[in-house]
Amino acid sequence: MPFRLFDAPDMEPSHFVGFAGNRINRHSEKRSDDVVATALANGKARILLTGQGQVLVMGGNMASALFSLQEAEPLLPLPERTIYLGMLDDAPILASPSDFDFAGLPDTIKAFDYRSVYTQGLIPPEQLGAMAQAVSLLTWHENHRYCGRCGTETLMRDGGYRRTCPNCEAQHFPRTDPVAIMMVVRGEKCLLARGAHFGPGMYSCLAGFIEPGETIENAVRRETFEETNLPVGRVLYHASQPWPFPYSLMIGCHAEALSDEFTLDKAELEDGRWFSRDEVVTMLDRTHPGGLMTPPPGAIAAHLIRSWVESRG
Ligand SMILES: [Zn+2]
Repeated sequence: MPFRLFDAPDMEPSHFVGFAGNRINRHSEKRSDDVVATALANGKARILLTGQGQVLVMGGNMASALFSLQEAEPLLPLPERTIYLGMLDDAPILASPSDFDFAGLPDTIKAFDYRSVYTQGLIPPEQLGAMAQAVSLLTWHENHRYCGRCGTETLMRDGGYRRTCPNCEAQHFPRTDPVAIMMVVRGEKCLLARGAHFGPGMYSCLAGFIEPGETIENAVRRETFEETNLPVGRVLYHASQPWPFPYSLMIGCHAEALSDEFTLDKAELEDGRWFSRDEVVTMLDRTHPGGLMTPPPGAIAAHLIRSWVESRG
C-alpha cells in the first residue's frame, strides 16, 4: 500500500476534544529558574488557583479561573509552589495551590472539583486547557516531593518543569501517564461497555493504561483481550486528549475485532455488547428509546464513536 503521509484533515481530530483548547505558548525553551518571579512582576499576569482537588472560579456570566495577582492575593497562593504555564497573548499565566480555607470563600468565588468544571463547562474552553496543564503539573509536584533515588526532599526548578535533588543531583521531570482508549469495531457494529461507576445508561469505549515497554497498538490488543477475551487485529490511532485525573494522556484508537464472540471481565465491566451504527447514532443524539447514551461531546470516547458512525465502514 502506498504511504500517504498527509492524507489527513487540516485540523487533526485531537483539536476538538475537551482540554485541547489550550492557546498558552509554553515557551519551553525559555524556562529558567526565575521565570515565575519575572511573571509575578508583570502587571498582566493571571493565576489559576487550586486546592483540595478543586479549582477556584470567579462567578457570574464571565466565569473565569484566571485571577489577576491583586484578585489572587487574598486567596493565599503559595509563592514557593507557584508554576509557570506560559504566555497567553502578552499575559504570563501561572498556577498555584491556594492556602485559603475554601469553606470561607466570598460569594463571588466558588470552588469546583476538576471533573465538574470539565463536564459542566463552567469556564471557557480555552481555560479548560490551561486547567488541565496546571492540575497535571501541580498534582505531579504534590506526589513527587522526594527524590526517587535517595529520598531527599527535592527542589522545584524551571518554573515547575523539573525537580532537582540537592543531595544526589538527580533530575526529575514531570510525567504523563499514557492510557489507551479504544473503540472496537467489527463490520457494521461496535463494542461498547460500562463500568459500575458510570452514570445511568452510559456506555463507552474500553480503556486501560499502557504499560512500560509496550506499543500503543499492543496495549489496545492486550487491554481489549483482558477485558473481553476478544482478539483484535488492526489498530488505527485517531486522536489524543489531555486528561488531568491526575496526569494522563488518553490515546484514542479504532480497533478491529477478529471475532463476534466475547466474554466480559465482570470485575472490570458491569455490562457490554455489540451496538449497531443506527443505535449508536441515537445514543450520540440522546434519542435512544431506552435512555442509553455515549459520553459527553468533549470526551475523546464520543469523538471516537462519532468518527466511526460518520465513516463509510
Ligand atoms: Zn537524590
